[in-house]
Amino acid sequence: MEIEHICANCFAFVSPARWGLGYKLCLSCGEKFAKGEPLPKPKKIPLTPEEIKVANEIRQIEAEVRKKKAQKLSEQIERARKKEKQKEWDRLKKKYGEK
Ligand SMILES: [Zn+2]
Repeated sequence: MEIEHICANCFAFVSPARWGLGYKLCLSCGEKFAKGEPLPKPKKIPLTPEEIKVANEIRQIEAEVRKKKAQKLSEQIERARKKEKQKEWDRLKKKYGEK
């Protein structure tokens, strides 16, 4: 079975022939390196299935927390509105109310 070789910088595929010559960088990164140019930023390392699972769980928890926060906020707004309405009602009662 052939081993897949990947670029040490960008994780792109490196041909076995190239790898056999001792290159650990892909053609694109290797050329830049040879010219002394800055290498492109390394790509994110692909996540393992276990890491993906954990990341999804974290995202789910974050979504729940956001939902709860939003609910609390809307309740606060509702309470503030009721209070404001009551104030307005009291004001009108004072102005036009009981003689
Ligand atoms: Zn590369």
